[in-house]
Amino acid sequence: MQISSKKDIIEILKDDSINEELFSYADSVRKKYVGDEIHLRGLIEFSNYCKNTCKYCGLRCENKNIERYRILEDEILEHAKNAANLGFKTIVLQSGEDNYYTVNRICNIISVIKKLNVALTLSIGEKTFEEYKAYKDAGADRYLIRIETTDENLYSKMHPGMSLENRKRCLRDLKTLGYEVGSGCLVGLPNQSIESLADDILFFKEIGADMIGVGPFIPHPDTPLKDASKGSFFLALKVMAITRILLKDINIPATTAMESIQKDGRIIALQSGANVVMPNVTTTEYRQKYEIYKGKACINENPTKCLGCITNKIKLIGRSVSKDFGSHKKVAKE
Ligand code: SAH
Repeated sequence: MQISSKKDIIEILKDDSINEELFSYADSVRKKYVGDEIHLRGLIEFSNYCKNTCKYCGLRCENKNIERYRILEDEILEHAKNAANLGFKTIVLQSGEDNYYTVNRICNIISVIKKLNVALTLSIGEKTFEEYKAYKDAGADRYLIRIETTDENLYSKMHPGMSLENRKRCLRDLKTLGYEVGSGCLVGLPNQSIESLADDILFFKEIGADMIGVGPFIPHPDTPLKDASKGSFFLALKVMAITRILLKDINIPATTAMESIQKDGRIIALQSGANVVMPNVTTTEYRQKYEIYKGKACINENPTKCLGCITNKIKLIGRSVSKDFGSHKKVAKE
């Protein structure tokens, strides 16, 4: 399968007759460059407060129907210890953009979690270079910040008061500081074009992403996009598969959003190019409130059950759970 230009990507995205071929090719590229092991990342959703108003997200500050919570420092550490005891080698701290967590607070959390001998990923939004530097100096290893869409017009419609340029600046700063950088996009936003999805994929390559997460847009009833149609699972899967084929050795999660709109969506993704899963290790009481979209998978589960469930499914498809940190190992030549 030849994919070398934007035109090739667009053709593949538009042609559903070659989907099976695309997915199995992406699966073979995954096997060749990152092998059969799957890296699990323990996700702690520590605050659903957010100062932003992203049109698609249930955490947007204008949503008054959500019960807000913050997990404080000591309790975040308890969650992290529990995850490390369960065997997770990476902890991901994710939240809305919540100013309660000052640089000092985040740095303290980072330094205590790093004592657990885990890799630490942050996913807490747009910050200044100095803030990113402070987190790095405190021990953070990786940072996730999706570009969401590279279509400038769509970006500004979806993110009032924010800018695509600043989002890109964040990614550049994180790279400069030596983080492993994760990004990604939403698939199926209202008025999103296939051409712009091709641009998103090329953008991932251009920035030298270490990890890319792709998920379908899922409407949330308490957002301005409540009546919009949901994104297509297969289109999201195709964007993910092409990303695997072009970026070869990066880490690619089978996202929770995929699982949420398609039964066994994560397993299908793991067989179409993905090599990472991010099970939720937040306790049940909080995960129900971290409602970025409706119908999020596994919201009634607890960390131990989630780990057992995904581990079984991984074994059933003949793969295994990695015991190492699962950093991006650069093995591809170009
Ligand atoms: N505040 C952090 C984390 C955001 S939540 C940040 O800005 O990076 C993580 C991801 O959830 C977002 O990047 C977005 O791509 C996804 N998301 C938010 N709302 C969604 C929805 N309605 N459907 C699908 N994914 C959504």
